[in-house]
Amino acid sequence: MTMDVKSGGGKTASAAGTPNTGSQECAGCGKHITERYLLKALDLFWHEDCLKCGCCDCRLGEVGSTLYTKANLILCKRDYLRLFGNTGYCAACSKVIPAFEMVMRARNNVYHLECFACQQCNHR
Ligand SMILES: [Zn+2]
Ligand SMILES: [Zn+2]
Ligand SMILES: [Zn+2]
Repeated sequence: MTMDVKSGGGKTASAAGTPNTGSQECAGCGKHITERYLLKALDLFWHEDCLKCGCCDCRLGEVGSTLYTKANLILCKRDYLRLFGNTGYCAACSKVIPAFEMVMRARNNVYHLECFACQQCNHR
């Protein structure tokens, strides 16, 4: 599942427009949020500092930032694409290469490791 917090014009991760009633707990650290405004994302409330990427720790609370969730991880767009996006199609076997798989790159083509090795053999 992906969630674009900007979608629908609701700006659910916006720091503005959600008055803090003083009774919300942060989904990140579990403490009460005492700031005047709280962040809302994924139907949960967060400290500005607690809503961050599980991979690179970059803050996702900034207005306009997009966050993605996968398997209870909250990720920034960059890490989500790196971990779960598709790298492309293998130029040798034409099958999809998942982004987390090791690939060989040659010029503009990407190859599975195995496929690249085979190609090398064929050349010899
Ligand atoms: Zn917190
Ligand atoms: Zn990240
Ligand atoms: Zn291949």
